[in-house]
Amino acid sequence: MAIERTLSIIKPDATERDLTGQINARFEGAGLRIVAQKRLHLSEAQAQAFYAVHKERPFYADLVAFMTRAPVVVQVLEGENAIARNREVMGATDPAKADTGTIRKDFAQNIEANSVHGSDAPETAAQEIAFFFSAIEIVG
Ligand code: ADP
Ligand code: MG
Repeated sequence: MAIERTLSIIKPDATERDLTGQINARFEGAGLRIVAQKRLHLSEAQAQAFYAVHKERPFYADLVAFMTRAPVVVQVLEGENAIARNREVMGATDPAKADTGTIRKDFAQNIEANSVHGSDAPETAAQEIAFFFSAIEIVG
């Protein structure tokens, strides 16, 4: 299996409830090493750009408002099969459909305020990591 990197975001609903440490423990317990991390308060323009792929979706404006209402923690996770592994640890987008023991099942409030973001493919992982981090900030 390949060692990969993926972009993770601990979203405002989770930082507001001080869940950063508990969520990070889930990643580390699943073999996903946190090789870069910083806390940011996204601007509207940054959130719009990050989620540009969803700009035609009906939830886009609400999603941007949600992602800018409080700080986020952006991070690079590294490990075997990290992109798919992180998606397993996160659980389904809608917490009502997420498997037992996943972050979203245990912490998410609803389909929008669902506690975490994770890249969905190698191409998006590379783009999303570069959106937030320079190479010198990632220490594997
Ligand atoms: P995921 O984060 O699981 O990859 P998507 O890429 O489809 O999910 O959506 C991006 C984010 O947009 C979701 O994590 C969630 O915060 C929000 N979202 C997705 N679908 C909806 C929806 N139907 N209503 C409100 N917000 C949504
Ligand atoms: Mg997605």
